[in-house]
Amino acid sequence: METLLLKGKPVRDQVFAELKIKVAGAPRKPGLAVVLVGEDPASAVYVSHKEKGCEEVGFHHETHRLDASTDQETLLALIDRLNNDKAIDGILIQLPLPKGLDQDRILLSVDPSKDVDGFHPENLGRLVSGSPRFVPCTPKGILRLLTHYNIPVSGKNVAIVGRSVIVGRPLTMLLSLKRSDANATVTLCHSGTENLAEITSRADVVVAAIGVPRALGPDEIAEGAIVVDVGINRIDAPERPKGTRLVGDVDFPALKGRVAAMTPVPGGVGPMTIAMLLENTWEAMCFAEGLDA
Ligand code: NAP
Repeated sequence: METLLLKGKPVRDQVFAELKIKVAGAPRKPGLAVVLVGEDPASAVYVSHKEKGCEEVGFHHETHRLDASTDQETLLALIDRLNNDKAIDGILIQLPLPKGLDQDRILLSVDPSKDVDGFHPENLGRLVSGSPRFVPCTPKGILRLLTHYNIPVSGKNVAIVGRSVIVGRPLTMLLSLKRSDANATVTLCHSGTENLAEITSRADVVVAAIGVPRALGPDEIAEGAIVVDVGINRIDAPERPKGTRLVGDVDFPALKGRVAAMTPVPGGVGPMTIAMLLENTWEAMCFAEGLDA
């Protein structure tokens, strides 16, 4: 079987091109503020991708880099200032935060109308209640990717493996919305799921978001299924000049040729996440200015 590769880059490019045109005709530039606390190398890379994305589509952006020893009150004061800054439409707190900071309290302090990550309980609650405002970027990107490649999920059995508040839980809510592009029957699996392979191997679509390299393979995923691999795992690869490489949560080589479609890692879901962040920031600007998004 030929496996269709669900590449994110062309979709990301399309979203970027549309945003550029919209920004050119907008009353002002949308503004994104990113707050990075500490020196986590992966977070630094993600932040630089966000900065480059903003540059490319013509958004105003600012990155606030704070020392790992920053105290809670200082961080809350910065967020309060950004909440009240009219040039800033979206505020993103790069996670994970260093130990000692109360992540829940900090995310709660972001104005929900600027919460372009969609992690504020008000935005998660809107998603659960069926009237979403900002949908978390990775779940939104997964649905956009499937839609782009004409893979409807309506009426299908979708198994999501991983219940994080960033990916699995909001994706469960999103794909089960009573909406023509969603409307799926979703099973959310996790480390406590007893009969995981039984559930995933019956699914039409399997989403892997667990953070375990190549954990799901032909024993867990049926022939002809659609596979969305969210995982980004760095593993040793002595044959590579850098000595490491990125792999997903599914066994790509073992599934290629067996499944109908699959996202590559890297280059699948990853590019969609940043595209959806910028789209959410555009929408935040439109809400603030009373424009149609
Ligand atoms: P997370 O917060 O660590 O959550 C992992 C989830 O997987 C948990 O629900 C955990 O169960 C479950 N799990 C772990 N091992 C399992 C197993 N063997 N069988 C079944 N369930 C298992 O992870 P995350 O933040 O969602 O990230 C998951 C992966 O996606 C990571 O590799 C991350 O780097 C990647 N990611 C990529 C993007 C992107 O843009 N491409 C965005 C976000 C995350 P418990 O709840 O029981 O612990």
